[in-house]
Amino acid sequence: MPRLTHEEILHWLRESDPAALATLFARADEVRRTHVGDDIHLRGLIEISSYCVRQCHYCGLRSARSMPRYRMSREEILAGARSAVDLGFGTVVLQSGEDFGIEAAWLAEVLRTIKQETPLAITLSLGERHSDELRLWREAGADRYLLRFETSDPALYAAIHPRRGSAVSDRVSLLRELRDLGYEIGSGVMAGIPGQTYEMLARDIELFESLDLDMVGIGPFLSHPDTPLGAPNAPTAGADQVPSSEWMVLKAVALTRLVCPEANLPSTTALATINTLDGREHGLQSGANVFMPVLTPAPYRQMYQIYPGKACIDEDATQCNTCLRARIESLGRTVGTGPGGRFTRTASHSLPILRSQPRFIPRKNSPSPLVVLP
Ligand code: SAM
Repeated sequence: MPRLTHEEILHWLRESDPAALATLFARADEVRRTHVGDDIHLRGLIEISSYCVRQCHYCGLRSARSMPRYRMSREEILAGARSAVDLGFGTVVLQSGEDFGIEAAWLAEVLRTIKQETPLAITLSLGERHSDELRLWREAGADRYLLRFETSDPALYAAIHPRRGSAVSDRVSLLRELRDLGYEIGSGVMAGIPGQTYEMLARDIELFESLDLDMVGIGPFLSHPDTPLGAPNAPTAGADQVPSSEWMVLKAVALTRLVCPEANLPSTTALATINTLDGREHGLQSGANVFMPVLTPAPYRQMYQIYPGKACIDEDATQCNTCLRARIESLGRTVGTGPGGRFTRTASHSLPILRSQPRFIPRKNSPSPLVVLP
């Protein structure tokens, strides 16, 4: 597939004609079908702690906010993992603020127990942790790590993601380190973060490609009133400011599918939040192939408020599972089984657990020719 040039990416990001965009989404959908098939993988998301040492200007978990916080117990996390199995999910995602109260050895034991007791793949999304901790968790069985670089623009990054003391925050280097440790790596950005220009978003998409990401999450920026970027006078990029609209997210997801054809791309909860009716489906029709239903226990969900108004926050896990499966079927797609990782990369850092399987199993009577890769 010919590479998209910078100018082409920029052109599509600025495109607003629905008929033209329909061709982009159709192309992304076709590339998605060819490379990752019709399966939608369900990853159960457990938000294990709302404590955070960071002061990110966009995030409702920032430590400057005074609010009730929680950290889940070992038993609560294991119960969440078991419910992921019961619901037929192949992966559990453990996410939190950057919480050093999650002690490395303690979490490693939890990971080992999940691996011993379940067939789940484990994804971690715990922020910028030390190399030795990341290594310990990988050795304990963690398969994947999500760490959005948020923006490829150094000045915007420094403005919205303040460093902690003298420690430099370099998420791109950390992603490379995670890959060297054997993790599948995922990253992403918010579309429409104040200060983000079209040029910057185009470069973000080019960085997804050059990092050869295994997973890419893109959602809209959703303003939280109790954060600096939620303030009415938050600085923007003026006329060149990227909007945090559904269309913008869909364009970015579609372009990401074209530059990262094999990656797993979620149709995000944030996208469902700006279009509760059928935002999730639109994501799946623009190149996405993953849903991340929330398995966090009800009492904690309201306390994990990255942004207000999160979609489906009051739905229990069973309702959510039923609803998502119906949405998947309504599009003629199928629910994935097993870990659903990426395993076509030829480099030595491919995960052994995933390498032994074909990339997807062709369905009987599949409407499109599916290519099974070794
Ligand atoms: N602490 C970990 C980290 O920083 O990677 C994981 C949790 S963090 C809350 C997960 C992601 O939420 C961030 O990478 C960011 O892109 C997204 N996020 C934070 N605030 C948001 C907002 N106001 N609107 C949309 N997404 C947001």
